[in-house]
Amino acid sequence: MAKYAQVVIDAVLSDNQSWDYTIPPTLSVTAGSCVTVPFGKREIDGYVLAVSDQTKVAEDSIKPLTAVKTGISIKPELLALLPQICAKFKLRYIDVLKLFIPSAVRGGKPKRNGERRIPEYIHKADHKVVLNTEQQYAVETVLAGGERVFLLKGVTGSGKTEVYMHIIERVLAAGKTALVLVPEIGLTPQVLASFKARFGDIVAMLHSKLYGGEKFDEWLRVSQGAARIVIGARSAVFAPVENLGAIIIDEEHDGSYQSDSNPRYQTHDIAIMRGKWHHCPVVLGSATPSIESYYLAKQGQYQLLELTKRANAVPLPPITLVDMAHEIRSGNGGIFGREVLASLLQTLKAGNSAMVFLNRRGYSQSVRCLQCGWTAKCENCDVSMVYHRDDEQLKCHYCAARLPFPPRCPQCGGTYLKHGAMGTQKICAELEKLLSQAGLINVPVLRMDTDNTQGKGTLVKILEKFANSSPAVLVGTQMIAKGHHFPRVDLVCVVNADGGFVADYRASERTFALLTQVAGRAGREIGTTGKVYIQTYMPNHYVYKFVQNYDYPGFYQREIAARQATKYPPYATIVRVLVSGTVDTKIIEVIKTMMVPLRDYDAQRSAFIYLGAMKCPYGRLQNKFRYQILARIRQDMATATIDFMEQVVRNTETQSLARSVKIFFEINPANLS
Ligand code: ADP
Ligand code: ZN
Ligand code: ZN
Repeated sequence: MAKYAQVVIDAVLSDNQSWDYTIPPTLSVTAGSCVTVPFGKREIDGYVLAVSDQTKVAEDSIKPLTAVKTGISIKPELLALLPQICAKFKLRYIDVLKLFIPSAVRGGKPKRNGERRIPEYIHKADHKVVLNTEQQYAVETVLAGGERVFLLKGVTGSGKTEVYMHIIERVLAAGKTALVLVPEIGLTPQVLASFKARFGDIVAMLHSKLYGGEKFDEWLRVSQGAARIVIGARSAVFAPVENLGAIIIDEEHDGSYQSDSNPRYQTHDIAIMRGKWHHCPVVLGSATPSIESYYLAKQGQYQLLELTKRANAVPLPPITLVDMAHEIRSGNGGIFGREVLASLLQTLKAGNSAMVFLNRRGYSQSVRCLQCGWTAKCENCDVSMVYHRDDEQLKCHYCAARLPFPPRCPQCGGTYLKHGAMGTQKICAELEKLLSQAGLINVPVLRMDTDNTQGKGTLVKILEKFANSSPAVLVGTQMIAKGHHFPRVDLVCVVNADGGFVADYRASERTFALLTQVAGRAGREIGTTGKVYIQTYMPNHYVYKFVQNYDYPGFYQREIAARQATKYPPYATIVRVLVSGTVDTKIIEVIKTMMVPLRDYDAQRSAFIYLGAMKCPYGRLQNKFRYQILARIRQDMATATIDFMEQVVRNTETQSLARSVKIFFEINPANLS
């Protein structure tokens, strides 16, 4: 047995330093062990990077480690990937080690046997389907693909999930395991149920909504090899699963794959690192791939596989754009366009169901004229400006542009400038009124958004109720857009499609993806025709034309050309250095200190397309002030410049002026709020 352990400890240190401890002969400690060690006067958690018979520490100053957790350790693969992950995302070892062993596991206790409660809903009956030619080709190509990355682009309802399942079946038959990542918790119970129906008890689920004991049990089942299929949200990419035969990222374009709180990482990159390690394929699936992924597929880095038809041959529903400015000018100030309302009532009277979708993201921050549809845009960046309530200004989140909130619309002179959210509650109330006026008194109006689905199981209950009642209306936000398969849904209406166009170079991409997903909820069964209405104040916006025609390639061409012209990813790299703390003068001092070498660097090398420092859009969160340095870096200079920026941050962190602040480093962050 080795005599010394090299330990990374859980303390606020800005580097990746490790400390040597002696291993008491009574303890069994290996690389990857979770240990407790004395540090100063305290006992502190630590992770063993390596064990050895030698140490550079003097024999009389080295201390023995105190304890080791039995049964819980980091797999050799993840330990080996640690330096790579940290280098890629500029993270500290300790933060990533804690991702490998979540706190619910490290400090957790098992739940008593038999108490494991996994939802058994919605589509229990699972039949085996015969794959069509495109699906079959996808499965065979992936399985023959070694460690390649595949982009599986398939229209909504084309049977991507079936492709995943067939791949997994074959992977299991070869004695290997599979990791399936899904966007967010909203989707997990349904996906899990269908995987359980197909594969039984070897499926484990890992996500943040599990109770501690459940998470502990599931994690252990994976770690010990009892579970051979792991399904989970973002953090499950670190699942302690060995012998991987395939990694699948469903709805790969989804923003939730990028963490926007510390530690910040991109799930795809971790999955690809693991795929390389295991020599196994990684499949990125989507109806609307992210621009970056499609770009990489076009470049040949990913292999593109396409499913062009819905599996049951039901055509995609026609999409109608509704000009809401025109509705207002014609005297209709209601939530729904006139044709939409008539069609909705007709659908319900015919006994079918409808979904009403609210694009809430960022909506409360954008400003628009209800009369002509004007929105406040930044002159330099072609993104919407964001309303800041505290100083009544419109600001661009990508440059320094600002404007006072205009008293009148600059385009038409009207005074109906609107900001603020339309809530799902308001829509439900309005709908109930409209339905009762039309004599549809018993039609349930169900609501689903992040506010009313926090409680465990509530989401499932609402979905079940909606699936079991027809006619019914489901009103919701992003949460109802994805994945769900409700056979009786014949009409989908997007109330405020423009809600997503806010201060973000990815706004068009996100809107395209979201609306395509939403549209895909309608008319999924033979016998329903499906109707989709998109209500907008900008009916001529190019995104809507491409959505309406289900034209992803057209959208991509347009979008990638714009990214190239304006120098946004993948033609540039954005870095944000976020500084937060309780004393804003301290933060400003830190920011100023960091800006000096950055400006020097830029003066010598012209590496930045843009470099600036500013208060964050959310200038204060949870009582902490927030400021940021924003940099857009020329792609040919990206690697060197990011390394330099990291050095600047690390140097600053160790100075006394940085003692009371936290500094976060983000590469191509998903949002800049
Ligand atoms: P996606 O994930 O691409 O949206 P799904 O995998 O959920 O699509 O498939 C949509 C529906 O089509 C499901 O009900 C599924 O069972 C069915 N399906 C998938 N593949 C086939 C097939 N080859 N033959 C018949 N039905 C299929
Ligand atoms: Zn106007
Ligand atoms: Zn700007």
